[in-house]
Amino acid sequence: MPQATVRTVYDCIDQFAPFDTAEAYDNVGLLVGSWDTPVKRILCTLDVTVNTVAEARRSGSQLIVSHHPLMFHGRKRLINGDPEADTIRALILSDINLISAHTNWDQSVLSGSASVAEDLGVTGLRQEGYLFTGDFPSEQSASSVKSLIEKKIKAPVRMYGSPSQAIRTISFAGGAYGSGYTEAIAAGAQAYLTGEIRHHEIIDAVARGLVVFDAGHYASEVPMIPRLIRFLKEQLGDTVDLIASSQQPFTGALY
Ligand SMILES: [Zn+2]
Repeated sequence: MPQATVRTVYDCIDQFAPFDTAEAYDNVGLLVGSWDTPVKRILCTLDVTVNTVAEARRSGSQLIVSHHPLMFHGRKRLINGDPEADTIRALILSDINLISAHTNWDQSVLSGSASVAEDLGVTGLRQEGYLFTGDFPSEQSASSVKSLIEKKIKAPVRMYGSPSQAIRTISFAGGAYGSGYTEAIAAGAQAYLTGEIRHHEIIDAVARGLVVFDAGHYASEVPMIPRLIRFLKEQLGDTVDLIASSQQPFTGALY
């Protein structure tokens, strides 16, 4: 297999999460770097901070593949002391390339939502936009579903609704997709797992008989990273090393 380049990796990601399916407001694709750079090691991460760039440099990675993009809000200046500007400058000064796949990845079978569903043993997964809905093998109480989620994603979960409610069908939309609870109800789910949901949305959802699990943005999406690594390994074979970032974006600490 010929040595991969930044473009090869972009083309692989484009297979499962076509970049042209991203929302118009999004910022995806090659964001920093050059298409023809040879790539031997890739750092995969949800977020990119100065700590992530330092980790990429330490690990000898030529490329970072992130879920959340930089320059999401149309940045016009790169001035020292601004955290995002410092991150972009660090990428350029370290000659590290950055590809981001965001809303296109969210709508793919390797999304955080589909990954969490799989980790929970939910089957018969069907997709509608960002929403993935599936079934547990048998009915179980909301409180036992909460325990299962916390065990699988290794993070605390907030549950809203009756702990004794029976759940067979559950919808998933990781990240910031609280408004998707109406779609979960329309999909016939008794429960909805998301990463961010607003107070008034919770009140409305519960009043409509839905149990809501708020797993946090990070924890509800980070299971997508091992899926990406598995997929790229299959595509690129031994020509490339793939590593998952050990940084949390808030603290820079190890998991
Ligand atoms: Zn996200």
